[in-house]
Amino acid sequence: MGNSSPHDAVIIGGSFAGLSAAMQLARARRHVLVIDAGQPRNRFADHSHGVFALDGRSGDGLLAEARAQLAAYPTIRLARGEVVQASAVDGGFLVETATGERATGRRLILATGIADQLPEVPGLAPRWGKTVLHCPYCHGYEIGGGPIGVLATGPLAAHQASLIADWGNVTLFANGMDFDADIRAMLARRSVTIEPVRVEAIEGEAAAIAGLRLADGRLVAVKALFVAAPTRMASPLAEMLGCAFDSTPLGPIIRTDAWKLTTVAGVYAAGDAARAPQNITFATADGVTAGVGLHHQLIADEAAA
Ligand SMILES: Cc1cc2nc3c(=O)[nH]c(=O)nc-3n(C[C@H](O)[C@H](O)[C@H](O)COP(=O)(O)OP(=O)(O)OC[C@H]3O[C@@H](n4cnc5c(N)ncnc54)[C@H](O)[C@@H]3O)c2cc1C
Repeated sequence: MGNSSPHDAVIIGGSFAGLSAAMQLARARRHVLVIDAGQPRNRFADHSHGVFALDGRSGDGLLAEARAQLAAYPTIRLARGEVVQASAVDGGFLVETATGERATGRRLILATGIADQLPEVPGLAPRWGKTVLHCPYCHGYEIGGGPIGVLATGPLAAHQASLIADWGNVTLFANGMDFDADIRAMLARRSVTIEPVRVEAIEGEAAAIAGLRLADGRLVAVKALFVAAPTRMASPLAEMLGCAFDSTPLGPIIRTDAWKLTTVAGVYAAGDAARAPQNITFATADGVTAGVGLHHQLIADEAAA
């Protein structure tokens, strides 16, 4: 990657947010290095939905197209790798990959995403992104109605069950969680059934779900299962750089201002790692905001020098 002359920006994470930021800077003829480990959050799903004018396209396909479009800009370099170190140095930031390559940038954008921490229910992880889902706007329509489960894993369980009732007949598998009388009444008004017995496993052929096997031996038939899994940062870099975080009901996000600048001067953050709620459209808009914000900051520095 070389570190002899600093890039205007190094973008860590080359998925929806990172590539969107890169495009704004490419069009401003700025020198940008994007380093990406190639693990976008939605890699488990074959199709992406709800994206303006691109409904139903594959996530991988969208990213490949974005990379091809960026490759036409001479000031952009796209590199594959995992950044394991990032630190402030004179004039910017130094990053180092797992294979020991180094690069410097006047500014940094963290577009590193988040990781879903799935509950350890046998049969759940292999169905993630197929019939075990997190977002009804992304995948609810394709279920086509009928019996749908929601597995309670945290504070958003009742809210998620109430929402998903617009997509089918919902059973909320409480799995050890208690709901007070007001929540139960709200769920009843939304025609949500509460199943108190613990879920032992998800059963079915391949990715299909025949039903949820309960601790008392019953098999409750559902076509799909929603889980609002807790999340964590996909990368420790924001913490390493000293960025502040905000809490959300599902996990931490990097604190940013309206232009996606973090609490560390010169470090921007965009996409799932730095906003809630999260989806492709929000992540791309976030990346655009970070790219434009960073460009304006470069200009302000150059005008003042
Ligand atoms: C199963 C599933 C299905 C989904 N379906 C949809 C859908 O249909 N429609 C929709 O709008 N949204 C969908 N989403 C949400 C969508 O995936 C995210 O909102 C979107 O991927 C966020 O983009 P991002 O660029 O912020 O992060 P990500 O797409 O997660 O990309 C982060 C990138 O940074 C890289 N990275 C991380 N750390 C490092 C490092 N240290 N060095 C280098 N690279 C690094 C990762 O490898 C990855 O490539 C889905 C999510 C899931 C879990």
